Amino acid sequence: MTTLRDILDRDAPSFSFEFFPPKTEAGARSLWQAIRRIETLAPAFVSVTYGAGGSSRERTVEVTKRIAAETTLRPVAHLTAVGHSTAELRRIIGQYADAGVRDILALRGDPPGDPNAPWTAHPDGFTHAHELVRLVKESGRFSVGVAAFPERHPRSADWDSDIRHFAAKCAAGADYAITQMFFHVEDYLRLRDRLAAAGCDTPIIPEIMPATDVRQISRFAELSGASFPEELAHRLQAARGNPDEGHRIGVAHATAMARRLLAEGAPGLHYITLNRSTATLEIHRAVLDSLSTRPALTTHP
Ligand code: FAD
Repeated sequence: MTTLRDILDRDAPSFSFEFFPPKTEAGARSLWQAIRRIETLAPAFVSVTYGAGGSSRERTVEVTKRIAAETTLRPVAHLTAVGHSTAELRRIIGQYADAGVRDILALRGDPPGDPNAPWTAHPDGFTHAHELVRLVKESGRFSVGVAAFPERHPRSADWDSDIRHFAAKCAAGADYAITQMFFHVEDYLRLRDRLAAAGCDTPIIPEIMPATDVRQISRFAELSGASFPEELAHRLQAARGNPDEGHRIGVAHATAMARRLLAEGAPGLHYITLNRSTATLEIHRAVLDSLSTRPALTTHP
């Protein structure tokens, strides 16, 4: 079976899309509409995020398994070490293996409720993501992705330790990484240079977040530690009350970023969809327009 690393090592950029497990019936309908639209684009993979606890985690497993069973898409399951013993993690990985899901994004996760609260490991669990990477790799023929941080992880004391800990995830078997959201292309390029200087050649896929609603993005940026460009914030602020204009500004910014990242040699783009497809598809179409190889796109109403 072709691994994601094989796909990422090709010359053509890979495109992928991220969803989260829905909480309600209406949310599930919207997710599946978005999934069906995205399926027509034949992306390299789609990923499903993992919640802080309880039923949202079960929904991640359900949605990921359903994507594997009922669509032509390749699902990547996010998995975190938060609140799990090693035995529980093994059981979840086993469920994925049974369902034919061979791709896992191995993450440490954050303390539930307050991501900035002190991190506490499960007494029989893991403290850092490289341990989860190792467990997944030992559990079978899985492709494993990890997180990368263009502005370094908010808890890292300095760049040296951040890069060293990232390299430990690669040494544990990580095949590729996906970045945290970011809004300055230079941050991605600097991270790539730092990792190359440390001898790390793991492909780093940049995450693209359409910034169409200033309030929502400011909250995401605060939670993730990403710095949001002031000029973009002002323009979105001025467009408040005019959602069409906010949408246009956010799509234009993300499209420009995405084009530049590919021109700078990024191996692909990972789009955050928020379970909606409109803004993402506009960005993706504009990106494909700027590439010479434009696959046929199916447009749904
Ligand atoms: P780690 O790699 O363990 O790093 C965490 C911190 O510990 C860093 O500061 C690192 O430098 C430090 N560190 C690592 N190893 C050591 C060591 N040996 N000694 C000392 N310090 C060390 N969260 C979710 O809950 N669900 C999701 O679905 C989810 N999806 C994500 C997808 C992407 C693409 C990204 C970028 C993040 C995602 N997150 C998700 C958030 C992520 O779980 C948090 O950012 C978390 O704080 C870091 O996870 P990590 O896997 O990078 O942890």
